[in-house]
Amino acid sequence: MTRVLLLTTGGTIASRRGDQGLEPQISARGLLEYMSDLRAHYHIDARDILNLDSSNIQAEEWQTIARHVFENRMEYSGIVITHGTDTMAYTASVLSFMLRGISIPVVLTGAQLPMAHPLSDGMENLRTALAMAASGVPGVFLAFDRKVILGCRAVKTRTTDFDAFESVNWPLAANVDGKGLQIHREAI
Ligand code: GLU
Repeated sequence: MTRVLLLTTGGTIASRRGDQGLEPQISARGLLEYMSDLRAHYHIDARDILNLDSSNIQAEEWQTIARHVFENRMEYSGIVITHGTDTMAYTASVLSFMLRGISIPVVLTGAQLPMAHPLSDGMENLRTALAMAASGVPGVFLAFDRKVILGCRAVKTRTTDFDAFESVNWPLAANVDGKGLQIHREAI
């Protein structure tokens, strides 16, 4: 079974409603519980590395994320990183340069609604991210709303739509449709 590492950093996907609004509260283990059907397809190990609203992520956290990816690159076929949507595109871009030449897929994803919400898009986004992480195509990517975007091309363009990210001046790296994960190698 393909081995994928899930690294969590906080964001809406891992949040619950608290006294101060949404607070990142769901641990990596908690996220894994939501993903029980996916665990029939992938061997998934999960680790909490940060627990932040992504508007508080800065250069120090980018180093932490990059280090965890680099240290685990030989043990896993791919790595998925859950992250708040507000600065996910910035993290995807900076990781593209920090991890230049990485030999495995590294895929950031998140959600517009927490996993604990009955209408959450988190599960769908994790499905796409895991498929890309298991694809064997190396690089840094952002997966959202069944689209996979090159990390250095992603921009958040919509605040609440599930279709929150666009690939700027570049075709999608992959997308999910009725044929499964369609990888567009000419774009990678
Ligand atoms: N501002 C929060 C963050 O970026 C919530 C936005 C989100 O995750 O969608 O972590």
